Amino acid sequence: MRVLLIWSVLLGAALGSEDFVGHQVLRISAANEAQVQKVAELQDLEHLQLDFWRGPARPGSPIDVRVPFPSIQAVKIFLEAHGISYEIMIEDVQTLLDEEQEQMFAFRARATSTDTFNYATYHTLEEIYDFIDQLVAEHPQLVSKIQIGNTYEGRPIYVLKFSTGGNNRPAIWIDTGIHSREWVTQASGVWFAKKITEDYGQDPTVTSILDNLDVFLEIVTNPDGFAFTHSQNRMWRKTRSLTSGSFCIGVDPNRNWDAGFGKAGASSNPCSDTYHGKSANSEVEVKSIVDFVKNHGNIKAFISIHSYSQLLLYPYGYTSEPAPDQEELHQVAKSAVTALASLYGTKYQYGSIIDTIYQASGSTVDWTYNQGIKYSFTFELRDTGRYGFLLPASQIIPTAQETWLALLTIMEYTQTHPY
Ligand SMILES: [Zn+2]
Repeated sequence: MRVLLIWSVLLGAALGSEDFVGHQVLRISAANEAQVQKVAELQDLEHLQLDFWRGPARPGSPIDVRVPFPSIQAVKIFLEAHGISYEIMIEDVQTLLDEEQEQMFAFRARATSTDTFNYATYHTLEEIYDFIDQLVAEHPQLVSKIQIGNTYEGRPIYVLKFSTGGNNRPAIWIDTGIHSREWVTQASGVWFAKKITEDYGQDPTVTSILDNLDVFLEIVTNPDGFAFTHSQNRMWRKTRSLTSGSFCIGVDPNRNWDAGFGKAGASSNPCSDTYHGKSANSEVEVKSIVDFVKNHGNIKAFISIHSYSQLLLYPYGYTSEPAPDQEELHQVAKSAVTALASLYGTKYQYGSIIDTIYQASGSTVDWTYNQGIKYSFTFELRDTGRYGFLLPASQIIPTAQETWLALLTIMEYTQTHPY
């Protein structure tokens, strides 16, 4: 333990990054609406510096919160005083971060091709951008790289296009990593990209999809945030834009879309992790996709991938009004999670965003759905909270494999149900 602590302090100092020594992740079980409200009060106590990983939502659904070391006793006393039960999910966040770093360090040898790339470890932005260039170079007939914009901090924003020809064919969009700390999503995106190039011409389903549709894949959808999770703060979720009049940085890019913007289910506080921004599309990372989708005009399925909680969600998040295509979306989701579970038995819940988790306004797929993209879905990948955002690298490939089965289901359905 002492050795680990010293290691983490040294590593932290070397990287100049924020450390999480002694931080715990608590799983809180709020039994009724009154207890949910009590936990929500904790959210407003900014001095506690709590980081809600999941919830608070409805009674009975777990609330996961990272508690900095100095706040642990206060939070536990608060919960006990109100008769709210909790358990410790992660004893020491820094221990998991150290393991993650050591794993990355051990496997950081630079790949010379996408065949020698290590898909079973987490990678930096530079490594993923190198991977993208290698994949394009290896498969110029199938894959190309499009730059759709530049981030707030000036980094290029890339989308991979998989296409076998045609003129503005109907298309499927997949993005990973719009929330930068959800590392298993970018890692899965890399795996999907490789998988498409391996399976085209080999697997009949993938071949048929790509003979009829184009696939766009944005692997690092929040590059500034992702770079920051590596350099400074592994727990960063938002963009890195400045807000005038506040010391707090960043906007939640999944609350910044022009669908119910600013309604309940997003925060107007720039210091909140769900801050919606000063206006819809204020974030260039969001606006770049909006412009791309509008200019393309023929995107038929839009899939935005997050972690964690094991959910497959469809619109709406900002209103309890059912989406006009709710029944069909529900059936597609059911087929997709069935396919996903067929590999390792991983169980997903599915339904509309507002019914399945909580009200969320300004989210990606509500906007795409309102743009007329019927097959709009959001995934929340593994796990259900044992590791949360700190999913061990040993789970990257299984997660990507099972998710791919669900994606194939949605893509095949899109191909066979034109509209
Ligand atoms: Zn997310």
